[in-house]
Amino acid sequence: MEIKEIVNHQKDFFKTQQTKKIKFRKMYLEKLRDIIIKHEELLYEAIYKDFGKSKFDTFTTEISFILNDINYYLNNLNSLSKPKKVRTNLANQIGKSSIHPEPLGCILVIGAWNYPYQLSLSPVIAALAAGNCCILKPSEIAENTMKVMAKIINENFPPEYLYVYEGGIDETTELLKLKFDKIFFTGSTKVGKIVYQAAAEHLTPVVLELGGKSPAIVTKDADLEVAAKRIVWGKFLNAGQTCVAPDYLLVEESIHEQFLETLRKYITEFKYSSDSVQYTRIINERNFQRLVKLIKKEKIYFGGNYDEKKLFIEPTLLNNISWEDDVMQEEIFGPILPVISFTNFNLVLNTLLELEKPLAAYLFTQNPEEKEAFTTKLSFGGGCINDVIMHLSNDRLPFGGVGNSGTGSYHGKFGFEAFSHQKSILEKSTWGEPNVKYPPYSEKKLNW
Ligand code: NAD
Repeated sequence: MEIKEIVNHQKDFFKTQQTKKIKFRKMYLEKLRDIIIKHEELLYEAIYKDFGKSKFDTFTTEISFILNDINYYLNNLNSLSKPKKVRTNLANQIGKSSIHPEPLGCILVIGAWNYPYQLSLSPVIAALAAGNCCILKPSEIAENTMKVMAKIINENFPPEYLYVYEGGIDETTELLKLKFDKIFFTGSTKVGKIVYQAAAEHLTPVVLELGGKSPAIVTKDADLEVAAKRIVWGKFLNAGQTCVAPDYLLVEESIHEQFLETLRKYITEFKYSSDSVQYTRIINERNFQRLVKLIKKEKIYFGGNYDEKKLFIEPTLLNNISWEDDVMQEEIFGPILPVISFTNFNLVLNTLLELEKPLAAYLFTQNPEEKEAFTTKLSFGGGCINDVIMHLSNDRLPFGGVGNSGTGSYHGKFGFEAFSHQKSILEKSTWGEPNVKYPPYSEKKLNW
């Protein structure tokens, strides 16, 4: 069947009102949970084949994440989908006002490759929980994970409700010509613009989950041991191929040397090596070559080795970096961490204010004034004080970018809202209405 036909079938199926039933939504969320658990080993194998991601990392950053999402919606669907009563103003008495969350219809989810299960299925789960039909187009770059998702979902779900469409740029371009009720895109800012333009043709609303250069600032008032340990973990997880990984470090000059040493200590302690099954590989040759070019020999503080055959790049610290260096011109998206020194915290915030708004920002300090300035002065999607990445694991926090790093958000109730329309209903009593609003407007009425 052609994809256009499947989309039309989804639109027809949506009109049958089946997906609006809470029982129906829960039944399929449970089914998705069951097939993920049943095929867990297949999912681990596929991602290991794609970029050597370990079972432990895949469980903690992908599978458990998705299962938590499903459980969240199973537990909260009744309250999330309930109409909410609100107060009625004087001009509308006697009346009742309420807000009714309703599904949008047929959703297109376009996924990225770096957390292929989480970034594809988490929006799908929210879309289904909100009562929509959905087409998922995972990233073709992680080919094995795309195939396994297509297999387990298309064998178990009716295509008129949920369908995984395999393909790359051509297939996505074809999809983008069709009219959806919402498009949820995760990927680069460059492709985000293509998606936004295509969506505008149909006035389709979008969520764009994009990237950018996310800074981590470490001041002299930070707990340096904790900061180094958490930064090393968050940066080199998935070999740096994480949209919210700290892209570069801004370290106060007085602790610069000591902090670099502490970073080195933890990289060594974590035992990342080209033989390790715990350390993820670079996704493909193209990205490998792009990253290797960013490692300038004279700037290496630690690491810098790589193995092309294994697509392995050692965790690498670059020192004596300036804003003009190549590594500071684009999102790194790999295991290379440039470190810039600063002397004045407020000036560094001013510098960041001149740059594009990043998806994440991190601050390590115990100083309340610095925490306050970081939170109120800078604009970024979301972030942490004294940690990295972990903000997105709290489903009570919305996850999304701002400006160049994206528009819209999801996770928890925010995911449900992203795929719902809030419909307003005012119900009026048929008696007790003042006649003043109706013409003719006599002098008496005008002076009322
Ligand atoms: P990408 O933009 O290259 O690809 C994303 C999706 O778009 C894929 O499904 C791909 O098939 C499709 N695509 C690619 N080129 C296209 C084109 N010309 N026309 C139509 N569709 C096209 O991104 P990627 O390499 O998969 O992911 C890396 C980027 O995504 C990084 O910038 C990263 O920061 C960002 N990212 C953001 C988040 C987030 O949650 N905000 C999460 C992960 C990755």
